[in-house]
Amino acid sequence: MAERILIVEDEEKLARFVELELKHEGYHADKAADGRRGLDMAESGEYDLILLDIMLPGLSGMEVLRRLRKTSQTPVILLTARDSVTDKVMGLDTGADDYVTKPFEIEELLARIRAALRKKGKGQEAGPLKVGELTLDAERYHAEYAGEAIELTAREFSLLKTLMENEGIVLTRETLLDKVWGYQYVGETNVVDVYIRYLRGKIDDAFGVKLIHTVRGVGYTLRENV
Ligand code: CA
Repeated sequence: MAERILIVEDEEKLARFVELELKHEGYHADKAADGRRGLDMAESGEYDLILLDIMLPGLSGMEVLRRLRKTSQTPVILLTARDSVTDKVMGLDTGADDYVTKPFEIEELLARIRAALRKKGKGQEAGPLKVGELTLDAERYHAEYAGEAIELTAREFSLLKTLMENEGIVLTRETLLDKVWGYQYVGETNVVDVYIRYLRGKIDDAFGVKLIHTVRGVGYTLRENV
């Protein structure tokens, strides 16, 4: 299946040009011409990569990135103005994967897209996930803390995997429902709270650590307590 790329860029000619080039390369490409629309589309989770202009109407590219990173690790390549070192540094700090300076050669952009997609693909199959002493090996269907096995149900395992894949990122109950229970799930979001409680019992309480954090009014995140 073609990889899906979202172009968030208000300069119509540039956006159109990039779109045509991407399609020519066999990607599926969509466009958004302002920050709000871009964020909405990016948050749909339907894209493998996002090209994000910084100077946008509606919401700035940086704001789009900041909000997107609360719920998503989709690779983002920023399109920055020439010599804007602040944008580049801020962008990478905010969670961008790479940036390309305008005006750019299309070949350079395509190379960076390939690299970002490759990195993303590797991340998904790169052996066990680790957060501190906590290890989860999806292929072996095994989780352990400091070498001691943790017995998990299938749902608990899937929830823990999702939290670890998004280490340090706050996931809303809705996002967790979608990722762990699936879009078809119909019911109360408090099922998430119930399973978080199970996981805490088996990890935080069992090993006397604090890895699963509640972010009031938002959701949950897994990270080492530092
Ligand atoms: Ca712009």
